[in-house]
Amino acid sequence: MTISERDREAIWHPYTQHKITPLPITIQRGKGAWLYDEKGNRLLDLISSWWVNIHGHAHPDIAKAIFDQAMTLEHVIFSSFTHEPAVQFAEQLLEILPGHFSKIFYSDNGSTAVEVALKMAYQYWRNQGEKKRHRFIAFTNGYHGDTFGTMSVGKKSGFFTAYEDLFFDVDFIDYPSTWIHDEMVLQKEQKILSDLDEHLKKYAHETAAILLEPLIQGAGGMQMCRPEFLLNLETLVRSYNILIIYDEVMTGFGRTGDFFACQKANTTPDIICLSKGITGGFLPFAVTACTEKIYQAFLGDDFGSALAHGHSYAGNPLSCAAALASLVLLKKSETKKQQQMIERTHQSGLDYLADNSRVEKMRLCGTVAAFDLKILNQYGSKESVNLRATFQKKGLLIRPIGNVIYLLPPYCIEETDLKMSYAMIAEALEESTVCQK
Ligand code: PMP
Repeated sequence: MTISERDREAIWHPYTQHKITPLPITIQRGKGAWLYDEKGNRLLDLISSWWVNIHGHAHPDIAKAIFDQAMTLEHVIFSSFTHEPAVQFAEQLLEILPGHFSKIFYSDNGSTAVEVALKMAYQYWRNQGEKKRHRFIAFTNGYHGDTFGTMSVGKKSGFFTAYEDLFFDVDFIDYPSTWIHDEMVLQKEQKILSDLDEHLKKYAHETAAILLEPLIQGAGGMQMCRPEFLLNLETLVRSYNILIIYDEVMTGFGRTGDFFACQKANTTPDIICLSKGITGGFLPFAVTACTEKIYQAFLGDDFGSALAHGHSYAGNPLSCAAALASLVLLKKSETKKQQQMIERTHQSGLDYLADNSRVEKMRLCGTVAAFDLKILNQYGSKESVNLRATFQKKGLLIRPIGNVIYLLPPYCIEETDLKMSYAMIAEALEESTVCQK
């Protein structure tokens, strides 16, 4: 049996309808933006392997940092103990996070980073005697993870219908998704802000926090909003005294062109959630960062006011070492130049596709480009699986979300490879039966 066949016997994969999904491709190795399968075929990883490999695959600097750390201290319980890599990374992260962040809470995946943020926000008010603040505001189409808390705030992403009876109540508002040449964007934003204003007039005193993916809603289909909207939202929400949580699990660590989306939008959330690119895709790791005001609200003389959250692998030294090495790469001027090159190349790629009658709603933010196909194509449907296979045959790893095609490459991608991808995408759309009008 091949590895792929043995896989089918033993493994249940994430976000997969196994009945209609072909056998998985066995990847033997990766280098830079490329993945190599067991037959020697190569695939250009245009989605940074679920958005994590910001510096490409098998980067030697990160690999070495992990090796060195593993030979010194692989893990230690993170309650009552600490270690240098954890402290160093927290210090360095606080230095590059904008505004007033003061404390770093470690966990090990994006869902958990958001789950922690929800618990922090809720208990922040409770610890101060405000026990009625049980409401959260989230955005339609937002996705924040797969735990019950994050599924509740991500209910309108459409992924979680099977579990809906078990969710807590969340108040949803629309996301002002926009695209190049969108003439209605200002009206959309104004309506959303005025709806939110009305909602807050009634419910602000019962609301703990508003949670959102700033600039780009990822799994909701790379929906983008303007930085100006985030600034106006912040001004409005601040006038009602509720907390702001940014889920930057995907947008963090350079994706939008700045280190963080909040920087790009010149906004200052109270809590920020980070994961994905944090270790350059080497190890699971996550951060929930908060302000001093929030941290102080958890101090007390007994455990009652403490944050009851922690995982076995919290603050794992190997993850911290990988995160430190990834940060060194991220801060390099070549990385910035690459991010700028990616944005330019995306722009010319989108220009090239502009006349294609199969595509619409082209959008771009930093290193992320996306557009819609003018056909209905459900997430995980047969058509979507077929389209993915058409891209794969052309050597491109692209994973459509419903009818949305997006490119989110590692920062090390070569300009020629990214340019070539747009030509191949046009070819694939031409050939794919899914896209026939
Ligand atoms: N928040 C956002 C914005 C995400 O994009 C994701 C993952 N797609 C998550 C949270 C959940 O992260 P993880 O898959 O690491 O649990």
